[in-house]
Amino acid sequence: MLKAETVGQRILIIEDEESIALGVRDALQHHGHQVDVCMDGEAGLERARADRYDLLVLDLMLPGISGFELIETLRREGSRLRIVILSAKSEESDILRGLELGADDYVCKPFSPLELLARIEAQFRRFEMDTAPPPELQLGPGLSVDLQRLEVHRQDEVIPLTPREGDILRYLVQHRGKIVTRDDLLVDVWNYVNGKVETRTVDIHIVGLRRKIEPEPAHPVLIQTVRGKGYRWHDAL
Ligand code: CA
Repeated sequence: MLKAETVGQRILIIEDEESIALGVRDALQHHGHQVDVCMDGEAGLERARADRYDLLVLDLMLPGISGFELIETLRREGSRLRIVILSAKSEESDILRGLELGADDYVCKPFSPLELLARIEAQFRRFEMDTAPPPELQLGPGLSVDLQRLEVHRQDEVIPLTPREGDILRYLVQHRGKIVTRDDLLVDVWNYVNGKVETRTVDIHIVGLRRKIEPEPAHPVLIQTVRGKGYRWHDAL
């Protein structure tokens, strides 16, 4: 099932104290995550913009630009990256400012590595709970999908979905209303390290999925094509 467990997430650490950065990196890697480290604010911001990460562990006092500025910039640009601040600034006013700017959690230094890990895992679990589609999706009259059993019920017919089709469907529904690019699907569903590859795999799977779940596969309304960008899930009425 797609990311029911929270291992294998992509995490960026922006932290200028090398011993902390590497310690946190090692602990997260040990838990099965892919981790990159940046040691200054400017480079970190570029990295966060350019690459796909699931979560950012962010120090506040950094060379270049501060962590506060970095959060402000990312949120202004519409980034939904989950952000956990890790800072020696432990005044209530700093914590509040960080959260108000859009951080998701705040851990003060000196910190317990186990607590930091638990808080990061909690972020991933919360995201799963907030966005998980219901096991039974109603798609139209006489048309529904059972995501647990991977079955499409179409009038009296039961059509099996492949596990991959189930993962794609779950992903599209989780991101309902938003454009999901081919890169997104390749990285998050296929687990490619880099989605920027030339492949027709995604489109071929979408065609197959539409045949099974769209009321009229030739005129898709649930999985809409966004020309030149990707796909968008539209909830059935
Ligand atoms: Ca620092």
